[in-house]
Amino acid sequence: MTAKDVRLLDELERTLRQGGLRLAYQPKVDARDGSLVRVEALMRWTHSELGAISPVRFVPLAEKHGLIDDMTQWALRTALRQWREWKSAGLDTSVAVNISAVSLEQLDFPDLVERMCRALDVPTDRLVLELTEGATQPLINLMDTLTRFRIKGVGLALDDFGTGYSGLIQLRKLPFNEIKIDRQFVTELPTSRDDQVIVRSVIELAHGLGLQVTAEGVETVEQLAALRELNCDLIQGYLLAHPLDASELVPWASRHKRRWKLLTRPLQDEL
Ligand code: C2E
Ligand code: MG
Ligand code: MG
Ligand code: MG
Repeated sequence: MTAKDVRLLDELERTLRQGGLRLAYQPKVDARDGSLVRVEALMRWTHSELGAISPVRFVPLAEKHGLIDDMTQWALRTALRQWREWKSAGLDTSVAVNISAVSLEQLDFPDLVERMCRALDVPTDRLVLELTEGATQPLINLMDTLTRFRIKGVGLALDDFGTGYSGLIQLRKLPFNEIKIDRQFVTELPTSRDDQVIVRSVIELAHGLGLQVTAEGVETVEQLAALRELNCDLIQGYLLAHPLDASELVPWASRHKRRWKLLTRPLQDEL
């Protein structure tokens, strides 16, 4: 561990204890009608001297040095509380929280999550956990834990599909409800034959197994059109919204209704 990492970890821990971490929320919408289906909570840390530090940098550090479980619990509690507030404001959505595979190794984690939902008055089926294949062990080893979540009604999404070990066999055996196609397959989709073949097959396969498909990192109207053509279920990306502050979601939702019509207008209308 470098001296810089030691310092960063130390400051991360202090920030967590002092309530200085934040969550940003990125909408996921129905590809057919643009309605808001879910928001994904993404962790944000603004360092007093270094500015914004990416979760890609600080999450692995926390995973390696035993801080991630506390961070995950904080994120769950914060996101569930926020869901309650949105619900009271008339916004009916579900909320997704990213969970490190490390945290799934705690045997009582599903019970803990269920208790949190109950305490904060959030139905378990309004929560989705987004999991990525961990570096330490394949998700298949966590089958029991994943199954317990599903029995409790909590949704499970396989994040960054196509980048890790998460192969087709895992998809068949593991109790997921949703897969998220990684951005790398979306970027060139409008022009790359190969990516079209891959994405079409993944969507057909997922649908055959009864899973919903989300495309991440959608940035252009061309990508959106291609994904709608391929029957993708849910769309997420900067085209629709950047990760937002909690207070921005309700205003976004009303603006978005009008914008969606423009984004999905047949292209010849432009001429
Ligand atoms: P992820 O869960 O796959 O999240 C998607 C990332 O892509 C987010 O980056 C999001 O801001 C970004 N993104 C969304 N739309 C677009 C787009 O249209 N174009 C591009 N270029 N990027 C887009 P972020 O917030 O920096 O998070 C990066 C990763 O850090 C996440 O990937 C997730 O693996 C991890 N992470 C974030 N928050 C948490 C957390 O609370 N807990 C855990 N364990 N991991 C987290
Ligand atoms: Mg995610
Ligand atoms: Mg992802
Ligand atoms: Mg990703």
